[in-house]
Amino acid sequence: LGPTVCVGEILVEIVATTVGDGFLEAQPLVGPFASGAPAIFISQCGRLGGKAAMVGAVGDDDFGRVNTDRLKRDGVDVSTISIDPDYPTGSAFVRYRKDGSRDFVYNIATSAAARFGWSQAVADLINRSGHLHVMGSALTVPSARAVIDKAVDIVKARGGTLSVDPNIRKELKLDADTERRFSMLVAAADLLLPSGEELERAAGVEGEAEAIRRLFEIGVKEVVLKRGAEGATYFGREGDRIDAPAFVVQEVDPTGAGDCFGGAYLTCRRLGMSQKEALTYASAAGARNVMVLGPMEGAGTQQELDAFIASTERRP
Ligand code: ADP
Repeated sequence: LGPTVCVGEILVEIVATTVGDGFLEAQPLVGPFASGAPAIFISQCGRLGGKAAMVGAVGDDDFGRVNTDRLKRDGVDVSTISIDPDYPTGSAFVRYRKDGSRDFVYNIATSAAARFGWSQAVADLINRSGHLHVMGSALTVPSARAVIDKAVDIVKARGGTLSVDPNIRKELKLDADTERRFSMLVAAADLLLPSGEELERAAGVEGEAEAIRRLFEIGVKEVVLKRGAEGATYFGREGDRIDAPAFVVQEVDPTGAGDCFGGAYLTCRRLGMSQKEALTYASAAGARNVMVLGPMEGAGTQQELDAFIASTERRP
């Protein structure tokens, strides 16, 4: 029923190679890496051979080309990534603290990432799309929000499906309008991909079992809960569940694991695999991605994921 489309922020990421607090003194950095949660998701879809397209914007600069070249190589249709002549590509600087938490310096609001909109090319793409994936983070970008609103209605009306990754941490306060849009998106999701505490936030109730029950009550069809190094769990409407253990790997950079996991799960399901098989590929995609620096540097092809699965132990 047409390609998987993701709409949202496209960024470059620059990562500190030392662990500590923030960017107040000069420090060795690596990058630019192609990034932005929606871009990471669609990169993994493309690498797995699913038909995939990205809607967003970059600047007319090298940071933009890092992204478009990369996504093109992954097999993603980039014809609906617009190139803004006036604003630079969005960016994120990341530094890890000793406790594993992260400090970020973002430039999204005043970058090309926040300046794209509905166009004839976007309309043509959405009108032949079979699946839309939305990251909650994109809802905080007004231009992305406007495109997502229209796209959800069109894709759903033509019998396509919607997946939603809340990608909004508990600490982040949303304004009332964004909160309302977020709740509507969750209720419309055929597949919800929360991570940790996002499950309860998306459901609006506490406790894992209660949150799952509530999500099915409001209309969600399928939930896959990501649990970091603890693995992941699929929950079905009939009370069925499948636990997928994590692979045992050395974690170097956890950024992007959930996006690769989601892109792999969705693509495998769209290619006709069972939930169990899709969970195995998704867990491998997430695990592979934490082993290397850079948010989408570990995104794998099916061949790479098969090799990884065959040679890597899983947690008991
Ligand atoms: P998010 O990035 O959305 O917070 P997670 O951190 O839960 O998502 O990661 C998504 C998936 O990637 C996990 O469910 C797991 O399968 C895999 N993963 C993440 N971190 C690790 C790790 N340290 N070791 C092995 N697998 C991991």
